[in-house]
Amino acid sequence: MNFEEYARTAVDLVNAQVETLDQLRAFYGAESWQALEATEKDVTVLRRGAKRLRDVFEHGSAGRDNDAVEALNVLLEAHPVQPRISGHEVGDWHIHVTGRGSSMGMEHMAGAVWGLAVWLCEFGSARFGVCADERCGNVYLDTSSNCCRRFCSERCATRSHVAAHRARKRAVIEEPAADLAPDLATTSPV
Ligand SMILES: [Zn+2]
Ligand SMILES: [Zn+2]
Repeated sequence: MNFEEYARTAVDLVNAQVETLDQLRAFYGAESWQALEATEKDVTVLRRGAKRLRDVFEHGSAGRDNDAVEALNVLLEAHPVQPRISGHEVGDWHIHVTGRGSSMGMEHMAGAVWGLAVWLCEFGSARFGVCADERCGNVYLDTSSNCCRRFCSERCATRSHVAAHRARKRAVIEEPAADLAPDLATTSPV
């Protein structure tokens, strides 16, 4: 597992919005070791952890580079990792980061925080963020070639562009009454 895959576990956790033990088990899959080991305490760890990770993504979207670094350093301190060389096949050695034998919730957080921290060092905090569609709220990693990603998915990008296009069209039609310019936020969902 490389750091990008770990960073993706941060994205997946935030977007899953785990609030209950049932949701937690559904998120990992009923047969996974996480589902079998999870307790209410893990729900709390992951819910709080997701909230703090979301803050980091929000700093990314807002261009608050130092705040993103600071928030990640606090999280790194709270979730120390134990690196370990692993191989699922002979010769296929790679580093796994683990949470020093702690609960599954702490384990997930340790990997997620480490992955996002390395991601920031490799690509910068502008390379992750919160979806620009306010009705969505999902977070994302920006792997685009031109560093311009603002939406979590094609679906949100399209929906938002359609809404903006309609708002512009309406603005043109209603131009004589300039003080009644439509507010984008009140555009009905597509
Ligand atoms: Zn592995
Ligand atoms: Zn979205």
